[in-house]
Amino acid sequence: MLRYDHPMARYAHIVDAAQSTLPPGKIVCVGRNYAEHARELNNSVPTEPVLFIKPSTALVRLEEPVAIPTEQGDCHFETEMAILIGQPLTDCSERQAAEAIAGLGIALDLTLRDLQTQLKDKSLPWEKAKGFDGACPVSGFVAPPPAAELQNQCIQLRQNGELKQNGNSADMLTPVLPLLVYISQFFTLLPGDIVLTGTPAGVGPLAVGDRLQVTLSQCIDIATSVVSRP
Ligand code: ZN
Repeated sequence: MLRYDHPMARYAHIVDAAQSTLPPGKIVCVGRNYAEHARELNNSVPTEPVLFIKPSTALVRLEEPVAIPTEQGDCHFETEMAILIGQPLTDCSERQAAEAIAGLGIALDLTLRDLQTQLKDKSLPWEKAKGFDGACPVSGFVAPPPAAELQNQCIQLRQNGELKQNGNSADMLTPVLPLLVYISQFFTLLPGDIVLTGTPAGVGPLAVGDRLQVTLSQCIDIATSVVSRP
């Protein structure tokens, strides 16, 4: 019998405080979706979305302590609004995209920044820096608001009581619905997949022992902590 004791084996999507039947899937992420964040990392502001994928094995619950690798340089937080997909989307319209949103949440796109910089400098893919086990702590999801309100969500992260990230989804370069349309032209989104919509400015390194408070508007408020990955 296959022995399988991985944090992801304990992960299930939570929607409206109940375990969802949607299976945990891939996480499609967008880089540089807020101009101020692109500038803080000395990246150009892209003319179309920069996409990458984290595997489902990156998923863990944000409500549990965030376990970070400590042997591979800085591990940065990037706090991002998360969209849970409820219906298949292939080459979809904005209307189909809106109907397919099953939940709204908040996630950390954990990034081994030193490793990512090394890989970027060599023009190599980022996966090892962003797709490692546990690289996507995600909250429980709430029922999605009307589409217009998707672009008026306040995204905040406090680290040891200090407000480090304080963004608003109004500042996304590519808003949620056009982003889902764009993604679905390259990757079919399946029920249970998650889309991370990019981080506002203010990213920085995590340290073991940090206390984090992660909030999305008035609807999600999570207190968690940072531990060393075993
Ligand atoms: Zn990110």
